[in-house]
Amino acid sequence: MSKEFSAVELIVAKREKQELSTEQINWLVANYTSGVVADEQMSAMAMAILLNGMNRREIRDLTLAMIASGERLDFSTLTVPTADKHSTGGVGDKITLMLAPLVAVFGVAVPQLSGRGLGHTGGTLDKLEAIPGWQASLSNQQMHDQLEKVNAVICAAGAGLAPADKKLYALRDVTGTVEAIPLIASSIMSKKIAEGTSALVLDVKVGSGAFMKTLERAQELAQVLTQLGADAGVNTSALLTDMSTPLGRKVGNALEVDEAVEVLAGGGSQDLIDITVELAREMLRLSGKTDVDVAAALNDGRAMDKWNEMIRAQHGDPTAKLQVAKHEHTILAESSGYVNELDALAVGTASWRLGAGRARKEDPVQFGAGIILHAKRGEKIEKGAPLLTLYTDEPERFDRAIEALSGGIKIESEISSSFTPLILDRINA
Ligand code: URA
Repeated sequence: MSKEFSAVELIVAKREKQELSTEQINWLVANYTSGVVADEQMSAMAMAILLNGMNRREIRDLTLAMIASGERLDFSTLTVPTADKHSTGGVGDKITLMLAPLVAVFGVAVPQLSGRGLGHTGGTLDKLEAIPGWQASLSNQQMHDQLEKVNAVICAAGAGLAPADKKLYALRDVTGTVEAIPLIASSIMSKKIAEGTSALVLDVKVGSGAFMKTLERAQELAQVLTQLGADAGVNTSALLTDMSTPLGRKVGNALEVDEAVEVLAGGGSQDLIDITVELAREMLRLSGKTDVDVAAALNDGRAMDKWNEMIRAQHGDPTAKLQVAKHEHTILAESSGYVNELDALAVGTASWRLGAGRARKEDPVQFGAGIILHAKRGEKIEKGAPLLTLYTDEPERFDRAIEALSGGIKIESEISSSFTPLILDRINA
C-alpha cells in the first residue's frame, strides 16, 4: 500500500522551502483529485510553490502525477504524424484558428485540445463558438475519426484528461497563483503529454499581455517546458514571441474569427501571417517535413479549404454571418503622430470588460464584443482619425473599458526606436 501523508505536513514542508519527494507529490495530486485534500489546502500549497519554487525533479513529478490523474489519448494508429501547438495566452491571439488547418494541408494531423478564456486572455473555444452550429465537445473516437479524415481538430479537452489540472487551474485563477513556473509548466505539459501528440511547438508569450512579463522569465519557462516534453518523448521546441501589443487588428470572439478568415483568404495583418507561418514551419520540421512552402498554402486557398472542412466536421457553418454587437463606440486620435504604445494588457482588459471575456468560469461571453484597432503600434495616425472601435451588447460597459485603455496608448511625433521584434528567441530541449 502506498504511504499516507498529511496535507498540512506537505504544505509546511514547502512553506519551509523543502523539496517534496516523488511519493509526497503523487499522494498530494491523487488525493486532491479525489477530494481528500481540500481546495483551501491546495490553495496554500499553490502559494507556497509560487513563493518557494520547485526543482526540475519536483516539476517533472508534478507533471507525471497530473497526467496519471486521468486518461491518456492514443493517436498512434493514425496514418499521419501528429503535431500540436500551445500558446501560453495572449491578446488577439487567434493563431490556432489559422495554424491547425494550415499544418493539416501538409498531411500532419493537429489534435488541438483548447480551453475557454478566463481573465484578459481569450479562449480558442469561445472564439469558435461564435460560428453558428459549431460544436466544441467531441468524444475521443470522434476526435480520432476527424483527425484521420480532415487532419485537423480543435475541440474541448474532455473531463478525463488531466482532471487534477482542471481543478488546480480554476483554483489558481482565484488565488493569485497563476504565474508560478512549476504550476504553469506542469499544467500545460500534463495536458499535452496526455493528449498523445508526437511533436509540440510552444508559443511562449512575453510582455504586458502575457503571464511572463520579461524575456528572462519566459526563457526559464520555455526551458522547463521543452525539457518536460523531451523527458516524455515528445519532440518539443519553443518560440518566444512578443505580447506587449495585441496580435492583429481585432480582439474579441467573432471579431477574431473574422480576422482569422481574412488571413486564410490570403490577406490579414502581417504579424499574424508571420507568427502563423513560423509556427507551422516549426511543427512541420518537428514532424520531419522541411521541404514545404507554408506561406503558399495561405495564399492559394488550400488552408481555407481545410478550415471549411474542419468547421463543417464539427457542425459549424463557415459561411454563416457572425454576430455583431448591438452598440459601438469609436475613439479618435487626440493628436497626429506615431502610435508608439498600444498596450496588450490595456486592450485585453478593455475587451474583457466589454463582455468578450468572463469574470467567473460559468459566465457566458458576448460573441460580438471586442475591439477593432484602426492603427497598430508603429503606425502613423492623423488627429481626429479613428483609433479604436469598441463593441458590446451592453453600452453601460463602455466607461469601464475606456478606463482600462487610459495610459495604455501613446501617440508621439517621432516613431519610437525601441519596438521589440515579434519573435524574440527559440528554445529546443
Ligand atoms: N495555460 C495552461 O494551460 N496552464 C497554465 O497554467 C497557463 C497557461
